[in-house]
Amino acid sequence: MLSENFSSAVLGWFDQHGRHDLPWQQHKDAYHTWLSEIMLQQTQVTTVIPYYQRFVERFPTVESLAKADQDEVLHLWTGLGYYARARNLHKTAQVVTQDYNGQFPDTVEGLEALPGIGRSTAGAVLSISTGKWAPILDGNVKRVLARFYAIEGWPGTTANQKALWSYAEQNTPQQRVGDYTQAMMDLGATLCKRSKPRCPQCPLQAHCAAFTLGKTDQLPTPKPKKTLPVKQTYMLMLQQDNEDEVLLYQRPSSGLWGGLWSFPQVADLRDTHGETGLEVDESSIQTLEPIRHTFSHFHLDITPVRAQINTPTDCVMEGKPMLWYNIQQPDNVGLAAPVKKLLESLANSPRIERFRSHK
Ligand code: SF4
Repeated sequence: MLSENFSSAVLGWFDQHGRHDLPWQQHKDAYHTWLSEIMLQQTQVTTVIPYYQRFVERFPTVESLAKADQDEVLHLWTGLGYYARARNLHKTAQVVTQDYNGQFPDTVEGLEALPGIGRSTAGAVLSISTGKWAPILDGNVKRVLARFYAIEGWPGTTANQKALWSYAEQNTPQQRVGDYTQAMMDLGATLCKRSKPRCPQCPLQAHCAAFTLGKTDQLPTPKPKKTLPVKQTYMLMLQQDNEDEVLLYQRPSSGLWGGLWSFPQVADLRDTHGETGLEVDESSIQTLEPIRHTFSHFHLDITPVRAQINTPTDCVMEGKPMLWYNIQQPDNVGLAAPVKKLLESLANSPRIERFRSHK
């Protein structure tokens, strides 16, 4: 199939069946497009929509985002996961405001130089916001092309990435590039879905190699599975007299859950005092049901431990930002997903005093 035919088939389908009323399609400038593209990485449209709306309401311009506290940015991001995206988002807003006078660069290379923007995101932002020619290769497009050309092997290998980028370049038209970008994302999300692709409705079906070969359920080849290691930790849900308050501290700005607020963690409960400087009332300790949080490279088995501390508040967690988080009137801070879940369960669980009287 000629590349002109490929793109005109996709654009023809898009005009009739594509998505034209997504919130970020109301403002196709670089700021709104970039914001939506970062949120959409590894996250579905329906999940992103309310986050996007809250974000643009609070930060209508790149300058307003640049000026925000990181805590507030992370708070509005809480639940979207992959927090490095939020930290990079904030950094990029500051770079664009300070170094580019509030205007995003208008080349792929310029955009790629900003924190958290890869080649595909740069292509999407540029093509949608300016109409300049720039191919994209996000997860959806990869899947469509891997099937259309029946590419064997995991698409993430260097050789396959190279081949896929080359197909993406060949098929990207000179005209209506922004629409084509959106069309390919829509086609991947709504027709060429991961499971049960809707081939009979697809404008590419007549020339699709995976369809012709009856391999749509085998392609793209899944990523080779590796067994993730399991790590263990205790999360200490520490309280004083006011049982609506629980101690949180802010994690260092880089690394796992960077900049988010979390419970103090220890590898061994016996080391609680040594690790945190906190004096826990041992008679109040309540070990709760463990929960598992899976990162891309390991599972973290978390045993939540609820307890009271005797240490005066001004002595605890020396050198680390800390706060008494009120579970009835939550602060606007970014929380790691399992911490948010545990705080919610704490708000709905019996008071320690009540628990202690039943021990
Ligand atoms: S025909 Fe099916 S497998 Fe091929 S691109 Fe279209 S939806 Fe995907």
